[in-house]
Amino acid sequence: MEDQESQEIILKGIGGSPGICIGKAYLVDKEGVDVVKQYIVRKAFLPAEVGRFKTAVRKAGEALQRVIDKTPEELRQHVQILETHMLLLKDKMLYDRTIEVIEGEHVNAEWALKKVVSQVKPMFENMSNDYLRQRAEDITHVADRIMENLVGGEHVNIARIDKRVILVARDLSPAETSQIQLERIKGFVTNRGGHASHTSIIARTLEIPAVMGVGNATLKINNDDIIIVDGGTGTVVVHPTEQTLLATEERREQYEIRKAQMARTSHLPAKTQNGQLISVMGNIELPEEVVALLDHGGDGIGLYRTEFQYLSRPDFPSENGLFENYKDVIDVMGNRPVTIRTLDINGDKAVNYIHENQEANPALGLRAIRYCLRKPDIFQTQLRAILRAAAHGNVRILLPMISGIEEVEKAIALIDDAAESLEKQGLAYNRDIPIGIMMEVPSAVVTADILAEKADFFSIGTNDLIQYTLAVDRGNRHVAHLHQPLHPAILRLIKGVCDVAREKGIPTYMCGEMAAAPLFAPILLGLGVEELSMNPQAIPVVKSAIRSLNLAGIDTLIAEMMRLTTARAIQDFLTQHFGEAVTRLGAAGSDQ
Ligand code: PEP
Ligand code: MG
Repeated sequence: MEDQESQEIILKGIGGSPGICIGKAYLVDKEGVDVVKQYIVRKAFLPAEVGRFKTAVRKAGEALQRVIDKTPEELRQHVQILETHMLLLKDKMLYDRTIEVIEGEHVNAEWALKKVVSQVKPMFENMSNDYLRQRAEDITHVADRIMENLVGGEHVNIARIDKRVILVARDLSPAETSQIQLERIKGFVTNRGGHASHTSIIARTLEIPAVMGVGNATLKINNDDIIIVDGGTGTVVVHPTEQTLLATEERREQYEIRKAQMARTSHLPAKTQNGQLISVMGNIELPEEVVALLDHGGDGIGLYRTEFQYLSRPDFPSENGLFENYKDVIDVMGNRPVTIRTLDINGDKAVNYIHENQEANPALGLRAIRYCLRKPDIFQTQLRAILRAAAHGNVRILLPMISGIEEVEKAIALIDDAAESLEKQGLAYNRDIPIGIMMEVPSAVVTADILAEKADFFSIGTNDLIQYTLAVDRGNRHVAHLHQPLHPAILRLIKGVCDVAREKGIPTYMCGEMAAAPLFAPILLGLGVEELSMNPQAIPVVKSAIRSLNLAGIDTLIAEMMRLTTARAIQDFLTQHFGEAVTRLGAAGSDQ
């Protein structure tokens, strides 16, 4: 009989990125005092490791000081305990000994600290004096504070993992996910997050299987447990039986075969049976992804999320750095369109060197265009780099999170300023490029007729449009089921944008993840979306779906569908009319 520990457990989450992987779990829990992992630090890196420990202690001290400073007068008597913690931070037994262990045993700071705490705590616990015995608790508090700084934020240190594993974390930020090295990390599982979070979008771009929103993954899974991650169904199997392993391996092979079949036709144009040619483009976060995008048959870049160049670094990038980066992408893309979206930082893509971004509601805060208009210098640097790069290819500019016409006017004025300054300096640039507006805030959709006067195209960002219209946090697993692309409100908004754009003579594109679902292609095209852009992995399946469609007579179906009252009814309607073709394709790439 199997012991309790190794019994097969099935955990349900949300499919973040399709694909199946089997491997050993590696926990990177940010509150990971109990799940700290030991790794050997090479001699040359020991000073850096000690430095990392000292920084964590300093940050813990600063955080404590902030708490002390904020404590109101009437609670002053409690401050004493915090002051004791302050002293303990630099206590020889904790501080000096941890450094000794790092240097002496060549181990990571987390492990050294854990070891030292496990030695020091019992010494206090065994003391007969009450006061001293209680200090054991304080040691734990202090060590936890240091540990949080060591393993939290940018220090998850995914880049250092040196074996093929599956990451298991409470949460991974988009910046951390973008550091994942594909040859090391097979997939990941997180307690938090949902399908539309930036973390899962990146996982799809990287083509690594991911299950998110599991809730208790870090409690149920231990380091080195064998786990199966199925990003298509959103399931994680811990301690799989021999039988499950065999069945999974078979399904994985089938999945890879279907994917390869799809890839073989991905370079064919996406032309419907009735002769309508649709551009199927890719979304990228980093220049390295361009090759995968072309391999998957992408007709261009419908969304370049430029903010990733601002994350995972100590300060803002320079104009030349940005220019080179954009030019690299443009050079690979040749004549194909490259839609460069201006900086969409903050929200869930916080930049750690911007210190004023402690916001209670970051998604509603100083994000994207709002930040750029508040910081014209930073915006100018990017705009100049884009206009310079535009001299080398087929570039479009896309403005994120527009909520009204004034933001568009201000942004255009800054684009003109950037062009003027380049002209004065005699640098090559191109100002004569399309400027588009992201349709992702409901107020923009409602005033689309006004915005159209200043825009060359609209691009619907359904990830945020759904978040803001339905009041559903895109990264919150508890409401992930409510993030519904087929909600009648969303379909009405999409229809509204397309109708206005058609009237005003500008095209409507879509770059939100809704565009990646093959089942939705007929209605999006039927409503009038002219170009679909998605994570590159989804391109082949969406192209295949489009090739199988005949859109003659689609208007009648759309009219019928628009009368339906729930997302469920609309989903059933689509399955009934287009399901057969799409189910056949969907297993390899559908991710909605
Ligand atoms: C969107 O909101 O749909 C979008 C494409 O932008 P992002 O996912 O980067 O917010
Ligand atoms: Mg968005």
